Amino acid sequence: MKNIRNFCIIAHIDHGKSTLADRLLDATGSVTEREKQDQLLDNMDLERERGITIKSHAIQMEYPYQGETYILNLIDTPGHVDFSYEVSRSIAACEGALLVVDAAQSIQAQTISNLYLALENDLEIIPVLNKVDLPSANPEEVTDDIVDLLGCRPEEVIPASAKTGLGIEDILKAVIERIPAPKGDPEAPLQALVFDSVYNPFRGVETYFRVMNGVIRKGQRVKFMATGKVYDADEIGTLKLHQVPKTSIAAGDVGYLITGVKDAREIKVGDTITSAEKPTTEAISGFEDVKPMVFAGIYPVDTEDYEELRNSMEKLRLNDASLVFTPESSAALGFGFRCGFLGMLHMEIVQERLEREFDMTVITTVPNVSYHAYTKKDPEAHIIVNNPSDLPDPTTLDRVEEPYIKATVITKSDFIGNVMSLCIDKRGQITNQTYLTQDRVELNFDMPLAEIVFDFYDRLKTVSKGYASFDYSPIGMRPSKLVRVDILLNAQMVDALSALVHADNAYHIGKKMCEKLKELIPRQQFDIPIQAAIGAKIISRETIKALRKDVTAKCYGGDISRKRKLLEKQKKGKKRMRQVGNVEIPQQAFMAVLKLN
Ligand code: GDP
Ligand code: MG
Repeated sequence: MKNIRNFCIIAHIDHGKSTLADRLLDATGSVTEREKQDQLLDNMDLERERGITIKSHAIQMEYPYQGETYILNLIDTPGHVDFSYEVSRSIAACEGALLVVDAAQSIQAQTISNLYLALENDLEIIPVLNKVDLPSANPEEVTDDIVDLLGCRPEEVIPASAKTGLGIEDILKAVIERIPAPKGDPEAPLQALVFDSVYNPFRGVETYFRVMNGVIRKGQRVKFMATGKVYDADEIGTLKLHQVPKTSIAAGDVGYLITGVKDAREIKVGDTITSAEKPTTEAISGFEDVKPMVFAGIYPVDTEDYEELRNSMEKLRLNDASLVFTPESSAALGFGFRCGFLGMLHMEIVQERLEREFDMTVITTVPNVSYHAYTKKDPEAHIIVNNPSDLPDPTTLDRVEEPYIKATVITKSDFIGNVMSLCIDKRGQITNQTYLTQDRVELNFDMPLAEIVFDFYDRLKTVSKGYASFDYSPIGMRPSKLVRVDILLNAQMVDALSALVHADNAYHIGKKMCEKLKELIPRQQFDIPIQAAIGAKIISRETIKALRKDVTAKCYGGDISRKRKLLEKQKKGKKRMRQVGNVEIPQQAFMAVLKLN
């Protein structure tokens, strides 16, 4: 155990975590020439395409140092604010963290928030000044920034380049010398923390764990404390680039477990694995519960696929513990799920993973945050509104509260004005302004969560020309003027198109929504009136004019197979369209309210 080091890499997005992980794998000879590729640990297609890390990844390396061989367990983590839950789970399984800071960008909002998470968990922090090879790098200044932030000595900051390989040996040396070996008693009853799991269609559920105390052995009976279920440990092993089966894994080490469990619901991230024969009495107090920030409906395009969608979501949840969902039904869309996400990026990723990994075609509805509504009849008890249809009728409504957040923006002083006007435009209130260095400033705002989950991040990037970073944390509920804008197509209300908006913007949004829907909904054989309404009051109206000609008309008289081909072509690719009444609504229409600017 004294030769094991468990560490993670934390940083603001794009500061070079995944690339640094590649270099560490190279330097420790953990990958063969043939296996080498950039951002090796980002093994999900989605991660590769988007160039971001979504999941934490664990990998074991071996490194000889001063005549001894050390086992280094590295957990790479995502940087985006939507995925900080993944970060907190990785942190709980480690004793140390490499804090990577880009030598050109310096400290950014997520550098700070991830650092706090690591400090809360008593991790030893090794600051790494990355990208020193860049012509735009400011090594001296950024080192000063890091020293200020951590209160460390300048010599403790390791200059590095994950691109050229500079400093990699120093980092490995520091991991061994500065990060403490794991504590834990191999003789005590088994206690292993589940920090991740993934569904493998051939082998069932794979559980990733860190042994805190005791030893886990192949073939033993293991008990998952949260569910009380007992299984055989069919296979255990360590996580190299490929899994390496072992006969036992002792306190301090990280590994995987396969029990033949096929049902995704039986494994919970944060759970404690113990021995069925000699169980521990105490579960490891693991993780905080995830708090979803954004809610939206997810529905199968084909109503018959509901059960399959449920199975897919359960499997996905296994690998994404932050996904929550409950069944709901919509008059327009039938049976589906109300899902909670950590943010809009998370929502997009979930939708894409459902499509790619589970071959589901789904419709997602307008996202909203979670409100508290109070009725006149019972002004003390709040109703949780995660879905526009849950908002009580305006005539019975007493008041509504919405979630607020404390936002932290770090930007250059040139952009303070722009950032402030954006925040005020988003109903924010500035609470603090601190100069971090001469031209870098930290701004704090209280803002409604609803205003930031949608397009705030993109607009912030625009107004600051990319020189602003952003992070937030919830600060509770505050009074809100909320109304529901309903949409009627052909005089029929389509519940899945309803949106919860601030009363001051309701008319404007209703009008824009009608215009946008007119653009998005394909023309059909008849006129389709589109109306926006608040309660019984119509606030706006547009009409989609009927098509003049049948799409297949030009084929009449031609050969029949051409006509069939045309129809098939239309049907192909399981279009993300839903028939509601006699109107076809494309997926984009359900998101129209987000794209009104
Ligand atoms: P992550 O989001 O923290 O995982 O960052 P990545 O490892 O994906 O790196 C973001 C970008 O920075 C990629 O284009 C990398 O090639 C680049 N990068 C990472 N480290 C270095 C470095 O030391 N020098 C230079 N010049 N570029 C780097
Ligand atoms: Mg990455």
